[in-house]
Amino acid sequence: MMIEVTDLVVAYGAATALDRVTLSVAEGEMVALLGPNGAGKSTLAGALAGLLRPASGTVTVGGRLALIPEGRQLFPDLSVADNLALGGWRSGVRDPSAVYDVLPRLAELADRRAGVLSGGEQQMVAFGRALMSRPDVLVVDELSLGLAPNVTAGLARHLAELNRSRGLAVLLIEQNARLAFELCRRAYVLESGRLVTEGESAALAGDPRVAGAYLGGA
Ligand code: ATP
Repeated sequence: MMIEVTDLVVAYGAATALDRVTLSVAEGEMVALLGPNGAGKSTLAGALAGLLRPASGTVTVGGRLALIPEGRQLFPDLSVADNLALGGWRSGVRDPSAVYDVLPRLAELADRRAGVLSGGEQQMVAFGRALMSRPDVLVVDELSLGLAPNVTAGLARHLAELNRSRGLAVLLIEQNARLAFELCRRAYVLESGRLVTEGESAALAGDPRVAGAYLGGA
């Protein structure tokens, strides 16, 4: 397994944000985690990245994990190239050329300040920064947030291509269920810190409760 989370409990003081969450992502698998605002999705991302300590339960990661955090979290005054370099810092990777091969637009933007880029370009920088560490598994917290549908679709294509060609495992944390079901064969649904349902995307998309809540009734 690339990600194995068992009975995970994470609390902020007295408030329980994740309540006995169990989920997994296998090697080379793309899995979605859906849920409304405040469900605990970013808390799970933080626990996976080792930024939050569990109150109980276990988090096991079977390879190098990289996170594309919610809201990108770039250094706006640094260039694109410098933002990328920071992504490779821990793993000692300095040369961004492999990332430019995957995301050629970043080579064109290399000298621009990250803060002046469009939302989609910034998300691409966050994507490239995560790839700098040559991850085996990528946790993507809200790929589509604030982006136009065609921009999201472009980034999603890159993600699917990396999964297909290199076996990159992905946990796609999304509010956009349509996108999540399209990209991922399997999904979990988190509400108020608890997993309420899980299964194959096709089955979930056909479940009236899930469709009603997450697909706008479509
Ligand atoms: P969103 O999609 O709005 O980002 P989310 O599903 O990612 O939501 P989290 O950000 O994980 O949800 O939040 C889960 C719960 O934990 C919420 O009730 C939130 O208010 C609370 N919470 C998150 N971060 C903190 C914090 N640092 N201190 C206290 N409570 C927090």
